[in-house]
Amino acid sequence: MSSIAENLKSVGQRINQAAHHAHRSPEEITLLAVSKTRSPDELRELYQHGQRHFGENYLQEFLDKKETLNDLAIIWHFIGPIQSNKTRAIAENFDWVHSVDRLKIAQRLSEQRPNHLPPLNICLQINISGETSKSGCLPNEAEALLQQVANLPRLSVRGLMAIPEATDDKAKQQAALAKMQSIFISLKHTHPELDTLSMGMSGDMQIAIQEGATMVRIGTALFGPRQYPNSKKPT
Ligand SMILES: *Cc1c(COP(=O)(O)O)cnc(C)c1O
Repeated sequence: MSSIAENLKSVGQRINQAAHHAHRSPEEITLLAVSKTRSPDELRELYQHGQRHFGENYLQEFLDKKETLNDLAIIWHFIGPIQSNKTRAIAENFDWVHSVDRLKIAQRLSEQRPNHLPPLNICLQINISGETSKSGCLPNEAEALLQQVANLPRLSVRGLMAIPEATDDKAKQQAALAKMQSIFISLKHTHPELDTLSMGMSGDMQIAIQEGATMVRIGTALFGPRQYPNSKKPT
């Protein structure tokens, strides 16, 4: 078996174990393969082993790849920061967007979503650790933003996404993820249609599943270390 296929299998096993440990069904958890910097051949290989959901951060890199992979039924998720001038291409080419953190961007995505496509699935990104450098709305802004985004006709709000502050401190990781779960549960009281809590990466997927993640975004554990840091990539 190739290393990508082995990695997929072992990530699947880690998800299953974490789910059982948390008394949850593994079927509640979707694996999103984060494929930024990865070649179309690597995506294709993962697809051939059954992976369907792929996440991309950089629009131009993604558009090149999508062209090469248009014979596959991939479900594409945009997970990077969104600039206003990129919303049209995002609305036209993705199935999901996880990184909506302000109304203006949501309005543009709704206006620009082509009519022949189903509504664009949206997660609101929450700046859960309150880092000034990070995208995401603050936890206390989430409810008002959700209220407004839920009214936009060409969007389907599915839930919340977070990228907690990078740390090896398990207690800190757990606290941020637990806070996300509590925000998610409280928003579901008024918006029972929310079904997606997008959190957990290679370093914290087990704890994220323990804290209620329904979608884990995994790059390194599937593909190995990236060639360049994501912050250095121009587009
Ligand atoms: C790159 C990235 C990931 C994947 O991180 P790994 O640590 O490689 O698993 C997940 N989410 C977002 C938003 C990313 O940019």
